[in-house]
Amino acid sequence: MKDIKFICTKCNKEFPIDKALYRCDVCNEPLEVEEIKEGKIKEGNVLNQTILDRYSEFFPFVNVDNEIGLGEGFTSLVESKELAENLGVGKIYFKNESQNPTWSFKDRGTIAGVQHALKLGYKRIGTVSTGNMAPSVAAYGSKAGLETFVFVSKHIAPEKLNPIAIYNPNLIKVDGDYGSLYYESLKIGKENNIYFINSDAPFRVEGSKTIAFEICEQLNFNMPDYVVVPTSAGGNIRGIEKGFREFKNCGFIDRVPKIICAQASGCSPIYNAYNNKSETIERFENPNTIAHAIENPFPPSGNETLRIIKKNGGTFVAVSDEEIVECQGILAQSGIFGQPASAVPLAAVRKLKEENYFKGNEKIVCVVTGSGLKYTAAFEKHNLVAMECKIEELSDFIRDEF
Ligand SMILES: *Cc1c(COP(=O)(O)O)cnc(C)c1O
Ligand SMILES: [Zn+2]
Repeated sequence: MKDIKFICTKCNKEFPIDKALYRCDVCNEPLEVEEIKEGKIKEGNVLNQTILDRYSEFFPFVNVDNEIGLGEGFTSLVESKELAENLGVGKIYFKNESQNPTWSFKDRGTIAGVQHALKLGYKRIGTVSTGNMAPSVAAYGSKAGLETFVFVSKHIAPEKLNPIAIYNPNLIKVDGDYGSLYYESLKIGKENNIYFINSDAPFRVEGSKTIAFEICEQLNFNMPDYVVVPTSAGGNIRGIEKGFREFKNCGFIDRVPKIICAQASGCSPIYNAYNNKSETIERFENPNTIAHAIENPFPPSGNETLRIIKKNGGTFVAVSDEEIVECQGILAQSGIFGQPASAVPLAAVRKLKEENYFKGNEKIVCVVTGSGLKYTAAFEKHNLVAMECKIEELSDFIRDEF
């Protein structure tokens, strides 16, 4: 490891980076990897690089094992001129994270976490998740030949369980309070030499920086005004904000975009804290939203997300399930099929435009965090149509009806 430290996001206490550490022993807030002040993007062809390799000067690893990669990152940034016009904003782009190996952005943080675990000599990794993190950690654990532990809730649906089980990890359905499993796993990891790569683990946040790095490269370093991120634990939004900040430190960009924390109103603890002018989040009681990927009622990086987004100058917004489903359909009409959580940024943009937060000429990037195929139950919420016709009548049908 390079001479870089973990730092507490709240009290700035320093910790050594050659240990599996997650939270500050003084204030219990998340740790993060020290901010990078100078670095270059590695030259070469992205077809032959991993994200850890291309942006290696922004990671604390002295050298990188490219063999642990599965082709994560380097996802498309798709502009929709039609949507920009319909919404009444300047430009709108979608960073399509459904193109990752396990169909969500989680793979970026997983490869960074696996790399750290290997550098520290761990033979076992783990995660607590019922969402996209579980298949991601299971896939990368298999690829790296690590023994992998996945803790899920006892009540997980088979539709979600099987896409984890296919990678053959030690998959354990845990009976008990799922909310306390995050903290419990950190203890279990310490006792059993398992490196847990949970939602806001410091290296997960580091992996998410590469979303910002790629957006910068894809826009030729002409910054968007806003980047909208659907937020649950807060790991991804922290990483994206940090990524832009580090590229600004290095002089690649002249400003950090404003980052918008978008939540579902059925589970919006961070938005609520902002709205109530509170500096700390409170547990959101009885969460209920179709956007399951962002349904964490007590996000472990909630307080830090509040701190950084206020400092960044961005804002917080919450949207209803009805708006989410509608925007999932609208997004698909631009060719991008994201899961409900991934339609939240578009719904947020629409709402902020209605509220005149956007004036009409801004350049916006929405992060489409995961694939629509992750949650096929959402199909029922849409009015999906298919026509039928006999083959002999098809030609007439096409001529007459269209
Ligand atoms: C995990 C996840 C999120 C939320 O990311 P956090 O880092 O938990 O805030 C959003 N969308 C999808 C599809 C996810 O899998
Ligand atoms: Zn601290």
